[in-house]
Amino acid sequence: MATAVYPGSFDPITFGHIDIIERASLMTDRLVVGVLNNPSKTPLFTVEERVEMIRRAVSHLKNVEVKSFYGLTVDFARQENATIIVRGLRAVTDFEYELQLSQTNRKIAPDIDTVFLTTDLRFAYLSSSIVKEVASFKGDIAAFVPSFVEEAVLKKMNKEC
Ligand code: ADP
Repeated sequence: MATAVYPGSFDPITFGHIDIIERASLMTDRLVVGVLNNPSKTPLFTVEERVEMIRRAVSHLKNVEVKSFYGLTVDFARQENATIIVRGLRAVTDFEYELQLSQTNRKIAPDIDTVFLTTDLRFAYLSSSIVKEVASFKGDIAAFVPSFVEEAVLKKMNKEC
């Protein structure tokens, strides 16, 4: 059984992430979305909130699980018995960092491989940071995230003001 992990911050999940999850879930028996609990970053949403939002966004996909993790992606992959790490590639700007990351992971865990899915052109510009930036200036983010995520972002930002 082929298990893959799809790690990221997902702060918050966007239609770009959902597209990658849907496509990756068709290629694997089991896909575990891993929400990185990174204490050096100050996210908008707690790791629990991000996990809950992703679970809701992908509830139609029966072979997808959502978990949080702390530490190295390769350790998370091993813990989940996964041999594949899925990452999304948007533009050339993603490439250099992703190449370095995947080569490092390969060095420390030669039994695990990284597979890249190129973004659907509809979402090539989309990132969690852009969503937060637009929302912080009261811009409309309905085209970027599901409506329940939009509500959560607006609520969180109103609280922070
Ligand atoms: P990180 O903080 O690790 O970059 P993100 O939550 O931003 O995590 O993204 C997780 C993964 O999803 C990364 O591989 C990223 O390249 C990919 N990704 C993010 N946005 C998109 C998008 N619009 N289209 C395709 N892939 C994307």
